[in-house]
Amino acid sequence: MVKYTFKCQDVGMDCGFAIENAGSEEELLEMLKVHAKSSHGVTSIPPDLLNKIKQNIKKSGKYYFACSSVGMNCGFEIAGASSEQELLEELSIHAKMSHNLISIPQDTLNKIKQNIKVM
Ligand SMILES: [Zn+2]
Ligand SMILES: [Zn+2]
Repeated sequence: MVKYTFKCQDVGMDCGFAIENAGSEEELLEMLKVHAKSSHGVTSIPPDLLNKIKQNIKKSGKYYFACSSVGMNCGFEIAGASSEQELLEELSIHAKMSHNLISIPQDTLNKIKQNIKVM
């Protein structure tokens, strides 16, 4: 199960507020609206700040990817990586050694990112 964590500090607010292990992004954002209103006097969060917040929400879960999800039938899978970053680093080794890709093209990378599962 994926847990969502956010700290005001990550978007440059020094109020010490943090939400840890919310069950969904929606749940986290609802709580954050209450906090923004009560502690920062912000009644509605502007879209640019909301984007910044979303980029800084940390997901904790186990990351999973299978080459078959992007149409490669090599049978390769990564299960249980602890971050997207870790998974992509491991995948780049596989791409290089098994698919002869020195670097993963941007459109393939986007497709890969869409197919990474978090559990
Ligand atoms: Zn705050
Ligand atoms: Zn592969």
